[in-house]
Parts: sequence; structure tokens; C-alpha cells
Amino acid sequence: MNRIGIMGGTFNPIHIGHLLLAEWVLDALQLKEIWFIPTGNPYKKRASELVSGDERYHMTTLAIQNNSHFKCLDMEIRREGYTYSYETLELLKEKYPENDYFFITGADCLFSIDSWKYPERIFQCCTLVAAVRDQVSIKEMEKQKLRLEQKFSLDCQKIVLFPFIQLPVSSTEIRQRISKGQSVKYLIPENVLSYIKEKGFYSEVSFEKTAESNEKSTGCQAV
Ligand code: ATP
Ligand code: MG
Repeated sequence: MNRIGIMGGTFNPIHIGHLLLAEWVLDALQLKEIWFIPTGNPYKKRASELVSGDERYHMTTLAIQNNSHFKCLDMEIRREGYTYSYETLELLKEKYPENDYFFITGADCLFSIDSWKYPERIFQCCTLVAAVRDQVSIKEMEKQKLRLEQKFSLDCQKIVLFPFIQLPVSSTEIRQRISKGQSVKYLIPENVLSYIKEKGFYSEVSFEKTAESNEKSTGCQAV
């Protein structure tokens, strides 16, 4: 069995938190590769901040280009309509049955996974790796792990809590800093930053341009 990490995310844009988490999980759990899978559209997130799937995919490929263990898959951005994690994992299982999947997330996902579509099918396909994030204590995470194990009758190895360093960085904060003209150097790879500047993503101007579509946006996040 090949041990493969799956790093799903909006990656709007990809940042040091995603990259370091992937690298440390690869190392600690002795994975063969990490597959980054940018999510498709649309989302619960503000339309004005949403960069197209193709562009988020491109930024992700730029970010990982020098790491031979990292790959980026376009399967979610290519799928029509909402994209759900259970579908992605089932498709991967079907296509590559020889792989053992580790779905890598931050602590926030450990607390929201119950409300995702068919969480029990996600657990059938992979081990969930939840990393410490945003001041959530390991104690709270342990409680939630137990709750999920009981709710979905899971083996205690199905959820792995990962003691990651606290890296209080998010794409939201990066977008906000860019919109205010503040520096995001070192939070995202240089080549991704150059691309964002070239395209004018997340700037005040691009926010204004999409303000109208933002008001109309009522979409729900598909996870
Ligand atoms: P946004 O602010 O737009 O929600 P984000 O920074 O949370 O962006 P996502 O693309 O939503 O990034 O996250 C993808 C995955 O990476 C999620 O499982 C999330 O919990 C995890 N993640 C993101 N940033 C960190 C971080 N700093 N530490 C640990 N995990 C993180
Ligand atoms: Mg997030």
C-alpha cells in the first residue's frame, strides 16, 4: 500500500500553513506523497474574494513545484457544480485502490466534519489527520475525536491528532493584508506572490469589481 496524504483546501491563496503542515505530516507519518486538491466552486465564502479554480490550481502548482513529494490534482476544479470530499476520496479509492489515504486537515475541520456531506463515507476511505490550529487545545480535540468515534463507530486509529506548531496564518488574513496593501512576504512563496501581484488578485480594485456579485452570493460551502 502507498501511503498518500490528501490536502484539500480552497488555497485562496496557498500559504506557509498549508505547506508546512503537508511537509511535517509527510515526514511524521512516513507518507510517499501529498496530493494537493484545490476545491471547486462555489462556496460559502465571499464571492469577491473567490479566485477561479484554475487560478487557485495554478498558484498551488507554483507553490509546490520544487517538492518532488508534492503533487497538485485538478479533479475538483474540473468537476461540475458542488464538490464534496466524500466523492473525491471515493473517486481516488476507485482509481488507485492500492493507496492508503490520509486526509490532512486543520483542527477546524475536526469540528465541522459532522456537517459535511456523508462524513461516514469519508471515514470509510481514509484516516483523518487533524492538526492543531487556532488555539484549539489538544484536550478539546481529543474530546471531539472521541465524540466522532462514538457517533460513527470508528476504530480509534481512524482519526489522528497531529501536534502541529501554532501557525496563526490563514488565507483570509492574507487576502485582507493584500487588500490593505500590507506585506505578505514569507507567508506565501515568492513565485505565488509575484503571480498575485501580476494578476491583481485580492486588491481593493478587484474587490470593487465583484462587489455586485458578492451581494448576490448566497451559496453554501460544499465540503
Ligand atoms: P480561509 O481563511 O480562506 O478559510 P485557510 O487558511 O483556512 O483559508 P483553507 O484552504 O481553507 O485555508 O484550508 C485548507 C486546509 O488547511 C484546512 O484543513 C485548514 O484547516 C488547514 N489549514 C490552513 N491553515 C492552517 C494553519 N495555519 N495551520 C494548520 N492548518 C491549516
Ligand atoms: Mg479555511
